[in-house]
Amino acid sequence: MRLYEVTGEPRYMALVNYFVEERGKQPHFYDDEYEKRGKTSYWHTYGPAWMVKDKPYSQAHQPIAEQPRAIGHAVRFVYLMTGVAHLARLSQDESKRQDCLRLWNNMTQRQLYITGGIGSQSSGEAFSSDYDLPNDTVYAESCASIGLMMFARRMLEMEADSQYADVMERALYNTVLGGMALDGKHFFYVNPLEVHPKTLQFNHIYDHVKPVRQRWFGCACCPPNIARVLTSIGHYIYTPREDALYVNLYIGNSVEVPVGEQTLRLRISGNYPWQDQVKIAVDSPDPVNHTLALRLPDWCRDPQVTLNGHDVAGTLKKGYLHISRTWVEGDTLTLTLPMPVRRIYGNPLVRHVAGKVAVQRGPLVYCLEQADNGEELHNLWLPDNASFTELEGKGIFAHKVLLQAQGVKYTTRHPEKQSLWHYDTAPPNARRRH
Ligand SMILES: [Zn+2]
Repeated sequence: MRLYEVTGEPRYMALVNYFVEERGKQPHFYDDEYEKRGKTSYWHTYGPAWMVKDKPYSQAHQPIAEQPRAIGHAVRFVYLMTGVAHLARLSQDESKRQDCLRLWNNMTQRQLYITGGIGSQSSGEAFSSDYDLPNDTVYAESCASIGLMMFARRMLEMEADSQYADVMERALYNTVLGGMALDGKHFFYVNPLEVHPKTLQFNHIYDHVKPVRQRWFGCACCPPNIARVLTSIGHYIYTPREDALYVNLYIGNSVEVPVGEQTLRLRISGNYPWQDQVKIAVDSPDPVNHTLALRLPDWCRDPQVTLNGHDVAGTLKKGYLHISRTWVEGDTLTLTLPMPVRRIYGNPLVRHVAGKVAVQRGPLVYCLEQADNGEELHNLWLPDNASFTELEGKGIFAHKVLLQAQGVKYTTRHPEKQSLWHYDTAPPNARRRH
């Protein structure tokens, strides 16, 4: 589709359309090929001819128009749908657009982790059923969240609705960037929400999980994929459309965007997502008449926008504040996105989060680690009335915001008996701690 967009050559789009519409048709191409090749197959990870027989794995079990939900290998699913969305827009195919909406909604409303991870099982690196979102055995491959950003980008190009950018931001900050260490040289492939390091080597349900970021992988798709998404991040920050330049992400950058015969130059600065203020300055030497559409994030209750220090009138449409004006050099929009620490609760249909709470500030979901909380994190409880203190980080956490709260730690009532018997008729001791 990108080649079609660059060249305008119709056969490229026709080929994409063929790949998309051929899926799930009977007689099935995979079965025909399997017969022709004397029933041989190269992929046997989950048994003989697994990839031929397990058609949902490759989203090839039925035509996409009939598929009700996100299924199969998570990375393949989002890559496929990125292409379908691109095709739907450029071919103006309403039924394919509906397919994208249906599958996007299923994925983001029923199979998405709070961290923007997708693919809740290791077997087949795949989606599971609706609301089946285990925190420890999850796959949530870095590539899957990158593919989710790609799908979101193409959905935004089809329809300027901030829900796509909200998911994109969630995936970027919490899984894609989290998939790389601050040194840029160590990576996660699998991004679990809960890890108990001591258990990993003994319980084979965790064979795919690593407790720390790794130098490299035998199948090293994720590290270069993170590099690719970061070097093309401009496509995600902005969505240029006829009616407006949509600003999706508040990442520091400078950009030049053609508007008719003119060029609009912008510079975004700030320390988002750690701090709530973002500045968007206009650098164009000549005045440019255009609309800027600023995304107001779903997590922010009280966003404020000023232009050159004064309140600005704008129109809110599907989560974007549209501001139309003849922009001149020196114009500065200041966006303030208050980010108090919030408790986030799971959908009651997700049994894995029953009795649990996540802590989020701005778009960032925070992590509780052994490094500063000691072992056996499952014994820590956050009381309803506990308040949070924001701390400026030091060392590797410089310029970042750390959170501290008073909590409760449960310990065994009879330390001396621990080795003899696991159970007790009395509840454990509760001790307050920071
Ligand atoms: Zn990968």
